[in-house]
Amino acid sequence: MTEIPSAVPVLIIGGGPVGLALAGDLGWRGVSCLLVEKSDGVITQPRMDGVGVRTMEFCRRWGIDKWVEEAPYPRDHPQDNVYVTSMAGYELEREPVPAPEADRGPRQSPQRRERCPQDMFDPILKRFATSLPHVRLSYHTELLELAEDESGVTARILDHTSGTEHTVRADYVVGCDGAGSTVRGMQDIPMTGPDVLTYSTNVIFRCDDLAAVYDKPRGYRFICIGPEGTYATVVAINGRDRWRLSIIGDGSRQEVTPEFVEQTIRRAVGADFEFEVLSTVSWARREAIADSYGSGRIYLAGDAAHVMSPTGGLGMNSGIGDAVDLGWKLDAMLAGWGGSELLASYEVERRPVGQRNASESSENLRRLLLPREETPPAAVFEPGGTQERAQYGKWFRDLVHREWFSLGLHLGYEYPNSPICLTEPNHEPVWEVTRYEPTAAPGARAPHVWLDEKTSTLDLFGRGFVLLRIGADSPNAQEFVDAAAHQKVPLAVHALDHPDVSTAYQAALVLVRPDGFVAWRGDSVPHDPETILAIVRGAQAQPC
Ligand SMILES: Cc1cc2nc3c(=O)[nH]c(=O)nc-3n(C[C@H](O)[C@H](O)[C@H](O)COP(=O)(O)OP(=O)(O)OC[C@H]3O[C@@H](n4cnc5c(N)ncnc54)[C@H](O)[C@@H]3O)c2cc1C
Repeated sequence: MTEIPSAVPVLIIGGGPVGLALAGDLGWRGVSCLLVEKSDGVITQPRMDGVGVRTMEFCRRWGIDKWVEEAPYPRDHPQDNVYVTSMAGYELEREPVPAPEADRGPRQSPQRRERCPQDMFDPILKRFATSLPHVRLSYHTELLELAEDESGVTARILDHTSGTEHTVRADYVVGCDGAGSTVRGMQDIPMTGPDVLTYSTNVIFRCDDLAAVYDKPRGYRFICIGPEGTYATVVAINGRDRWRLSIIGDGSRQEVTPEFVEQTIRRAVGADFEFEVLSTVSWARREAIADSYGSGRIYLAGDAAHVMSPTGGLGMNSGIGDAVDLGWKLDAMLAGWGGSELLASYEVERRPVGQRNASESSENLRRLLLPREETPPAAVFEPGGTQERAQYGKWFRDLVHREWFSLGLHLGYEYPNSPICLTEPNHEPVWEVTRYEPTAAPGARAPHVWLDEKTSTLDLFGRGFVLLRIGADSPNAQEFVDAAAHQKVPLAVHALDHPDVSTAYQAALVLVRPDGFVAWRGDSVPHDPETILAIVRGAQAQPC
């Protein structure tokens, strides 16, 4: 049992993937934190299963990318999206997506996206966090109350195992406590967004050899279309014997009886077969963003800050982006070099990303459900309807294609309004979903370039600030180093004389933040490196 300390620098509420990632990032930085989770942390209904390429880049930084690749999801399992009348029925179209072992990944990253369902991914994050001496995780422990004052936050928490209440004093608190966030509620922060999108039901069922029942090449996700349009999806959640049926539903609450669940499983699979229902969860699919991501000493991250339709697999990936943005800023504040405006930049940077991903996720849902309006012709369900199936299937596949190929969302998000990035007036961020063109403009993710067979430029970033001196004649940046030492900002300098780096970074000097985003770039040492460092650590406002 974890001993609950009476004081801790950072208290994290919630041990889902975002809370665990934040605990891991803080611990990796040497920041002490306590994570409290009210449940036992065991996942019986895996929700996320798609780990995006940017999240994998963070895992690479933390040294756990191989753990994800070695998770028990079978690496030879094709990831095809298959459009069917039912799994054993007619196949309308198939979007081929390579199995993890065959996926070469995008040229713009040293990593690739991975398939790793939550009951495999959360334990990896937990293993990472608990491997770090500064991290303490306490399960069966619930936040009851928070009170903030000038010098810290007092939290009342209940250890359900012993029934004991504890008071914990923290410098900072982060609510990673999910869609129904108690931290958000205690802060009276409203969520803004449209009404419920659908009332859906997710069912995990077990069948030892479903492939023999549906008798088609394997796939990851089967999208089931009936005469009324899209009604369900079936996902190979562990690539072996467990499947997740999503009964998508609509804007009205469903009456979900065990009989209805079994009937829908048989309908979606298209056969009478033996299976075991392991768990059923009914939930409301929403798009909503917290009006505030927090302030002072209390912040929100992950689903506590934004909820979105799972269509597109962006929820957790957005949340881990929040955790990484917040991790180094909390470290800087606790270490004393973070300026008074540093934490305010968290919301400015991350809220627009949450908004954009939530809105795109709803658009993915809208496209997925379009067959409810553009219903398939009757011939699609008849033996002679081969041509109609091909036509309808192609139309549908082209429509939803971007849900599966959203590199621009994963790698292309930028922080154009950040008060701590010296953005360039002539740079317009390209907000595209499928396309990503690397840029080293301040506010963007510092691009990946292979420095040798195994080393990416990304491997240089993470702990403190990094100043890249690029090209054979890059200026000596001693003034920068002196200014960083003066302001106690951790700064490492790397000289890179490599044509691909020069092409990707387009400047002789590039200052990269601890989270791997570009803060400033230029071709010569500025006359005031002290000012630049004061701005990027949130200690000085940018000149208008
Ligand atoms: C069907 C489905 C598929 C999805 N697929 C993907 C995907 O492929 N990729 C992706 O990126 N996202 C996906 N998502 C979204 C993803 O699952 C969520 O965005 C993610 O789980 C959010 O993580 P979190 O840590 O913010 O919150 P949660 O996972 O909700 O964790 C919050 C934790 O806080 C705890 N808690 C709450 N209140 C308290 C309290 N007072 N004290 C202590 N603990 C508390 C809860 O017990 C919970 O464990 C999917 C979602 C669904 C529904």
